[in-house]
Amino acid sequence: MYTPIMAAVLEDPGEPLLFRELLLDAPAGDEVLVRTEHVGLCHSDLHYLKGSLQITTPAVLGHEVVGIVQRVGPAVTRIKPGDRVVATVTPSCGGCRCCLRGRPTQCERVDAMRTRHRPKLLTPEGETVEALGGIGAFAEAFLVKEASVAAVGSSIPPHAACLLGCCVSTGVGAAIHGANIGPDDTVAVIGCGGVGISAIQGAKLAGARRVVAIDSAPAKLDLARIFGATDTVLAEPDAATTAMALEALIPGGVDHSIEAVGRSSTAELAFAILRPTGTATILGLMPAGEKLQIPADALVYGDRRIQGAYMGANRFLSDVDMFTDHYVTGRLLLEEMVTKRLPFDSINEGFQAMSEPSTIRVVLELSQSQS
Ligand SMILES: [Zn+2]
Ligand SMILES: [Zn+2]
Repeated sequence: MYTPIMAAVLEDPGEPLLFRELLLDAPAGDEVLVRTEHVGLCHSDLHYLKGSLQITTPAVLGHEVVGIVQRVGPAVTRIKPGDRVVATVTPSCGGCRCCLRGRPTQCERVDAMRTRHRPKLLTPEGETVEALGGIGAFAEAFLVKEASVAAVGSSIPPHAACLLGCCVSTGVGAAIHGANIGPDDTVAVIGCGGVGISAIQGAKLAGARRVVAIDSAPAKLDLARIFGATDTVLAEPDAATTAMALEALIPGGVDHSIEAVGRSSTAELAFAILRPTGTATILGLMPAGEKLQIPADALVYGDRRIQGAYMGANRFLSDVDMFTDHYVTGRLLLEEMVTKRLPFDSINEGFQAMSEPSTIRVVLELSQSQS
């Protein structure tokens, strides 16, 4: 049975989201229905909003979310109504080859897991509505598989807990799982938005000896120090100048670079600043067809590596517990990452605020706009 909910709907990329009523199905099987509390605005949402990444419309974006479970399907075992949960765009089966090798973000059964026998979201006219990442959190409620959520408890304020679902999983995950940083490593993080700041925090948690923040906005570099950057480099339009500034700080280059921007130029910079045996870990999403140019001699002669780490190669279900412990003991800063809190109906204003140089994360509050 479908119930009406209010959602911010993407109809035409490049245009503002439109508030309209949609119909959300009831949970079946291993699904859970979650009432949205807080949702962060992520750059991948912005990419779909602008049209630089494609999604079938109409669509409900939003994936960095925390909420309260309202109802569960009969096959749900781990989650119960009343639980506060954070969601992930990478549910995992736990049994495929990637899951068994500790890479659940590459779960081979993710498409099968998302399949259901009828659309979860409809317009009142009966048109199917796409939900980004199988979530669709720019709405009063959303319906996901149990495997897409982790219980988060009450020790983290919900306006900050939502960050665990995307930028923290991705950034901290990249440092700890994707790049496997250790105490003898020097690290450079390119881009100091929500993901980059999280990567800086992850590198600090992993014990890195130096953590260099690189961004084109001076305000971001000041903020980066609060989260654990030991050094900063102002990114110049010319990548060679940026690389030279890093070379002055850490001669020979870094052991690890983490790219959190999503441009070919910054991914190439991430490779260019590696010392021999160094690894560049690319997190930023780029448009389909984008290509990177990597100098082959530096790759082979220097035993350098470049790798992707989609969503930071996080291990969501256990990482949420790890993040919670590090938050409780003061080693992971979360509220400090929330630059602006806005009511749900200010979502389009929130996307505008994302481009301000001092913005790390904008979080929408849905509790205010609900009865
Ligand atoms: Zn995201
Ligand atoms: Zn799997």
